[in-house]
Amino acid sequence: AKQLGTNKYAFYSRDLGERLRERMVRESGLHRALERDEFFLEYQPKIAVQTGMVCGMEALLRWQPTTQGSQVSPSEFIPILEETGMIVEVGNWVLETACRQHLLWQQQGMPPLTLSVNISAVQFHAGNLPETIAALIQQTGIAPDCLCLELTESIVMQDIEQTVATLHRLREQGIKLSIDDFGTGYSSLNYLQRMPLTELKIDRSFVMNLPQDTSAIAIVDSVLTLSKSLNLTVVAEGVETPQQAAFLTARQCHQLQGYLFSRPLGAAAFEAFVDFSCKT
Ligand code: C2E
Ligand code: CA
Ligand code: CA
Ligand code: CA
Repeated sequence: AKQLGTNKYAFYSRDLGERLRERMVRESGLHRALERDEFFLEYQPKIAVQTGMVCGMEALLRWQPTTQGSQVSPSEFIPILEETGMIVEVGNWVLETACRQHLLWQQQGMPPLTLSVNISAVQFHAGNLPETIAALIQQTGIAPDCLCLELTESIVMQDIEQTVATLHRLREQGIKLSIDDFGTGYSSLNYLQRMPLTELKIDRSFVMNLPQDTSAIAIVDSVLTLSKSLNLTVVAEGVETPQQAAFLTARQCHQLQGYLFSRPLGAAAFEAFVDFSCKT
């Protein structure tokens, strides 16, 4: 038994060391990713239930290291960016790149779709976000009501007074504010009604279990009821099946996003998707 225990320890310890090293390598690689131009964005369409047309897009960060064959998943590199604080700089790059792309699309005649950008809790609390956004609007000329920030519930869990004040300073500029992955965190209804939000996004983990699972139905229904009383737009993420879409449409969810409609797309493919969906 003792022998087994020792082996077990050796196994875990080697495994951990390996993972740490791998992480360090990636971290140093990440350090150069911006200057090496290794980041790019994909855009996932959001569909308005009422019209069946594209009404917006979510910008999603991608990393393709030049020294590696394949892309690294955001779930792997974003936590490292957050732990090292690099997410502030990279997050600003995402905001600026996405807004410039949006402007280009406007100049090409694309309808004024809402551009959603993910904001990390670290970025929200560390950087001077309201000033950053004000400068961004000034420099890129994006219409403020075309920009939506997707925030996580964890942002709200920290200093509530400070958070509410920052949210107001953002909302006063005319941009939209969304709570991402809603239902997975612990935000209380009391806090929620104090925040100047425009949108809630139902997390994929609930959508996934529709339309069979009764507790998923109960959660989705309560988010929809809550949104109605707070006058918020509701978006369902991770919609993969026609059955899920039909269920959410019947319950008057406003917008749908997921592989059923489209995976995240490069800029050119997104343009083609919007063209296609407008002509049909
Ligand atoms: P998220 O904000 O919840 O984004 C949705 C994720 O679900 C994306 O994964 C998207 O590709 C994926 N997805 C969309 N539709 C479906 C579907 O129908 N089925 C399934 N299985 N997945 C779907 P992705 O791009 O790997 O991003 C993962 C997470 O990384 C994001 O989750 C977000 O939290 C974070 N992230 C991505 N880009 C950024 C960024 O620019 N800044 C920050 N702070 N976080 C980002
Ligand atoms: Ca998101
Ligand atoms: Ca989400
Ligand atoms: Ca999610």
